[in-house]
Amino acid sequence: MSARRLLLLGPPGAGKGTQAERLVAQLGIVQISTGDMLRAAVKGGTQVGLEAKACMERGDLVPDAVVIGVAEERLRQPDAAKGFILDGFPRTAAQAAALDALLARLGVRLERCVALQVDEDELVKRLLRRAEIEGRSDDNETAIRNRMRVYREQTQPLIDHYRKLGVLAELKGDGSVEEVGARIQGALAS
Ligand code: ADP
Repeated sequence: MSARRLLLLGPPGAGKGTQAERLVAQLGIVQISTGDMLRAAVKGGTQVGLEAKACMERGDLVPDAVVIGVAEERLRQPDAAKGFILDGFPRTAAQAAALDALLARLGVRLERCVALQVDEDELVKRLLRRAEIEGRSDDNETAIRNRMRVYREQTQPLIDHYRKLGVLAELKGDGSVEEVGARIQGALAS
């Protein structure tokens, strides 16, 4: 039996979104991507979108209170009860603490945190390639470098948090989408 309450951790460009989509198809769980939800909010011109837009364009984090609100609302929806994969949340210690508290209130546990490791040169290459295809406004070199630094300083330390909770699987994120997918499947089954 595979774990069904999952978190994907990794730097920008590590392949979290791609692998999350595969897991949605394989396991029938929902993907919760704060990046996708925030981009939708910016596009829709909502209050959250207005608060997030400038931060996102610079490659800075959106304030914890905003993101925590978005993630909590999504996790409380009934379809998340059958399983979820968090992609891009939490990204700070405060967000991780809020997630722990929310899951405790919902009476569920995170079963696995998969941390994808890819070296920085490869990440920048992937993101610049994605910039050509998707034209995301934060996939320019300045914002990319800032997102990498923010990841190292604020998000990478969370790996220790999930190691202490006993749910961490550290995997190499290089190779084809299928190869990485197979590694993840292995980590969820064990
Ligand atoms: P990537 O992983 O490629 O950086 P995402 O789509 O996950 O892309 O996130 C894009 C941007 O959205 C981030 O740079 C940040 O501004 C904002 N964002 C997404 N998730 C969070 C979060 N959990 N906390 C703060 N900001 C976030």
